[in-house]
Amino acid sequence: MNFSSKLLENAVAEFAKLPGVGPKTALRLVLHLLGQDKEEVQSFSDAMVKLRNEILFCSTCHNISDQPVCDICSSPKRDHGIICIVEDTRDVMAVENTDQFNGVYHVLGGLISPMDGVGPADLEIDSLIERVSRGDIKEVFFALSATMEGDTTIFYLNKRLKNFKLNISTIARGIAFGGELEYVDEITLGRSIATRVPYENSLSG
Ligand SMILES: [Zn+2]
Repeated sequence: MNFSSKLLENAVAEFAKLPGVGPKTALRLVLHLLGQDKEEVQSFSDAMVKLRNEILFCSTCHNISDQPVCDICSSPKRDHGIICIVEDTRDVMAVENTDQFNGVYHVLGGLISPMDGVGPADLEIDSLIERVSRGDIKEVFFALSATMEGDTTIFYLNKRLKNFKLNISTIARGIAFGGELEYVDEITLGRSIATRVPYENSLSG
């Protein structure tokens, strides 16, 4: 693209770094911002900077939070004996939207993916084992995407967890998730959570 302004080119280049945003979309977004009041653009950029600078991750479940311990982990109404293991905060939102789960979460921060160089040490796995080893956990329940990375991660975690006295279950692995949990409709995901199956049984399917 031939830009008439270096400032314009820089702004477009920044937007084009975002996932799913090509140069044309980036240009459209930048021109849109340029058409807005200066205050609007200021509050847009302030929100991004504030998010990045001030966001916390819950010290227990590692979900994105405004406090050192998130609302779910600090709620007495939740069942702290059941941990739902998810990849990231989008999956916490998806499971919460189903209203079918009243336990707590553990956000791994990714999935094991040797192809991308992501190993167990890159994820919040040691802190999960530590949580479980404290002893109050009855059930660990996987809500990970039905991809090779999801399966690899469950296989690995099951090995690490199976010597503890707890039930290990998973949402049905066969249902068409379209890759990521956030894309599953609420009813399908809700049903899958309500009818979760022991992990060992799910392997024979
Ligand atoms: Zn938490």
